[in-house]
Amino acid sequence: MSAYRPKTKGKVERPFRYIREDFFLARSFRNLEDLNAQLRHWLDTVANPRVHATTRRVVNEAFAEERAALRPLPLAPFRSVLKLERRIGREGMVSVGGNFYSVPDATRRRVVEVHTLAEELRIFEDGALIATQPILEGRHQRHVEPGHRNIHVHTRRQRLRNDEVILHGSGDRIAQRPLAFYDAVARVMANALDTTPSTIDRIRHDLVGLKMPRALEALDHVVRRLEKGEIAALEAMDILLSEELTLRENSRIKTALRMGRLATVKTLAGFDFSFQPSLDRDRIFTLAQLGFVARCEVVHFLGPPGTGKSHLAIALAVEAVKAGKSVYFCTLAELIAALQRAERDGRLQERIRFFCRPALLVVDEIGYLPVVHGGGNLFFQLVNARYEKGAMILTSNRGFAEWGEVFGDPVVATALLDRLLHHAVVVQIEGSSYRLRQHAELMPEHLRSKASITPPTLNPPSRPRGRPPKNGHPSATV
Ligand code: ADP
Ligand code: MG
Repeated sequence: MSAYRPKTKGKVERPFRYIREDFFLARSFRNLEDLNAQLRHWLDTVANPRVHATTRRVVNEAFAEERAALRPLPLAPFRSVLKLERRIGREGMVSVGGNFYSVPDATRRRVVEVHTLAEELRIFEDGALIATQPILEGRHQRHVEPGHRNIHVHTRRQRLRNDEVILHGSGDRIAQRPLAFYDAVARVMANALDTTPSTIDRIRHDLVGLKMPRALEALDHVVRRLEKGEIAALEAMDILLSEELTLRENSRIKTALRMGRLATVKTLAGFDFSFQPSLDRDRIFTLAQLGFVARCEVVHFLGPPGTGKSHLAIALAVEAVKAGKSVYFCTLAELIAALQRAERDGRLQERIRFFCRPALLVVDEIGYLPVVHGGGNLFFQLVNARYEKGAMILTSNRGFAEWGEVFGDPVVATALLDRLLHHAVVVQIEGSSYRLRQHAELMPEHLRSKASITPPTLNPPSRPRGRPPKNGHPSATV
């Protein structure tokens, strides 16, 4: 397997996620030795005796077989280098991994490059190595390399502060204050010097504890802007918190979309309403307010293929996810297949409960494939279980009059429609296929704008209120 080939890159990198999530996530380590001991224990008791999900083999056994074919490890340890840029603090230290390392007083630049190797840390100024130090273990440790400090600068400052002769000698133009005042100033200044790096370090430490990775990432940049006076303290807090919140919201939405099987994300913003003049834009945007989800209603999108039924259904589902509602998307064929499997395994009720859990269930593509024998009955059981308890969006290319044919049984179709139209919104799209829009001019005139759907013959409680097309050929306007 090659790490750089798109086909195998995922396989090579997958174990890192496994180790990160299964091993590292909730543990803490006293030191490297402790980490290694815990890792060894986890490898021996959890990771290696398990049956691998893909290969279906015990990892230890598979490895024992492969071992003979492996080449020996290189004699010298692999030199991995982590390169970072670090700003030198006021005390002439750089912070790496929560510890502080000195740089020589003679360093001219404020930002240096730090290379972290397994055993040591190398600090570069303009590409030239200026310091090498052993890696400190733990956190909040400080290491000042003996040659880094220019000692006589220090003594001169001391002498200045205590030397009253020089102060008096500066003449009567200096306002005479009690010397204690200067002591107080010195104390404030000294405290400022001491606390600045450790406050930041404490914030960093707390952000790690609070699991706020994005705020942690943004911290340095925000502090730099604060120091330059570009932003105020409140704004800095605001940036850090909203950065973190955005990350969390993103990952929550991503997870919810994945769990809800919404693989392709479609949005209302990406829907071209001018292409479907029969569609009432305001009505769709009212649906996007999600009142129908709260009221456990059913939304039907009816129309010929390619008119955006799935697009709109998904877009509304995405809105629901963003609003924190649970959503599940499937086609009718998938849904029925799942219910049939469950029935075979004697777990139908469990499966129906599963499909009842999401606040919004989208069932796409009713009428595209003939429903298998008994499928209509299973779907009815689910619809009945969700009736007035959870919202649904259904899409179909067939009019309700044809549902008898679709489900292979007019009685089941009637029972279904009875419930599915009780608290319902019907959106009928009577345009032409968006998929075929480039080929529109190739189509014979009489086929271009005609909806190939038979309008519902049942009298639905909630009639489609969409504006009628403004002209006889809605598709001809685009
Ligand atoms: P249907 O489910 O009605 O057969 P889809 O919703 O799958 O049709 O639409 C087919 C493709 O065309 C999808 O990629 C969809 O995003 C796109 N599409 C359909 N209608 C529009 C539209 N009005 N604006 C933008 N894209 C559209
Ligand atoms: Mg579709």
